[in-house]
Amino acid sequence: MSINDFTSLEFKSRIITAEFILPSGEITEKDIEIRTSPVTGRTSRIAFSRINENEPGTGRLPGPPPDRDNISKCPFCMPQLNSQTPRIHSNITRSGRLIQGDSVLFPNLFPYGSYSAVSLFDRHHYVEIGNASVDSYFNSLINCRNYLKKILNHDPDAIYLAITQNHLPSAGGSLLHPHLQINADRIPSNHHRTLYKTADMYYRNTGHDLFSDYLAHEKEDGRRYIGRTGSWEWVVSFAPEGFFEIWGILPQKTSFKQASDTDWQTLASGIINIQKFYRHLNRNSYNLGLLITEDESSRIELRIVMLARSNYAPWVRSDYTGFEVMLGDMTTFIPPEQTAEMAREFF
Ligand SMILES: [Zn+2]
Repeated sequence: MSINDFTSLEFKSRIITAEFILPSGEITEKDIEIRTSPVTGRTSRIAFSRINENEPGTGRLPGPPPDRDNISKCPFCMPQLNSQTPRIHSNITRSGRLIQGDSVLFPNLFPYGSYSAVSLFDRHHYVEIGNASVDSYFNSLINCRNYLKKILNHDPDAIYLAITQNHLPSAGGSLLHPHLQINADRIPSNHHRTLYKTADMYYRNTGHDLFSDYLAHEKEDGRRYIGRTGSWEWVVSFAPEGFFEIWGILPQKTSFKQASDTDWQTLASGIINIQKFYRHLNRNSYNLGLLITEDESSRIELRIVMLARSNYAPWVRSDYTGFEVMLGDMTTFIPPEQTAEMAREFF
């Protein structure tokens, strides 16, 4: 996709074929689909021949991790929380930590950016995927929102914002105790940079917002549309860059400050619905990300991305192989249209 002719969203896909001789001597052909993301122009692949693969560790939901009861060593459990977690600098807020219901937010002791924080859901040390309450996610998200508002008051140039989650160590989580990460910086990440440029160019060329048009296309097509929670609309990604990748879009809202309390509540509902879907697939691990560019000129509407990761269980293989890491093309096994069919019952 050349940015100059970016005047419409193209849902492009091609089938390529691998032809070879089976051990039995029979000649066979295997299809691989290559899809191009209408948003990023990046390609990803669907290897249909692996659709029925029984990946180790997905026959049933893996049991609890070994340290599920080890709350005395967890810095996010009480009473360690008060003595072992850091406090927010007093030039941002005088309260040190932000409290919303049972959620507590404090700085990340091991920051990835200028403003890097952790938002707990509640006091539960281990929560299986799909079993968290909507309220716990709502409170944690509200804490994230309040923190980001305080950061922008303090440093109005730190406009590149993100709320992310690594559920379980196989998704990158270093502590079992469930939490969200918040990041704010003056320097954009790769995805912030690409999204800003693309949404901006699309708006200049068409006068329309990128994700609204994407959603309109997906609702018209219907095959990847899942449903809605409040004003959030949920679709399976056309060209997934992760297993069972699902997007929630809040149309026409380009600033997190435009989202109402109800919008955060219904976002929490959608997240739990998708967790229940992943649980139904015997997946216990996932990532979540909401990227925001808090700039008046930004045309990026709020969009959350969720995708399942390799299970956290003994001897499970990573979902990132040499193909993904070295070639940059994610390869999944199930057509997004089939994922949407399965996910709909959870909405
Ligand atoms: Zn804990």
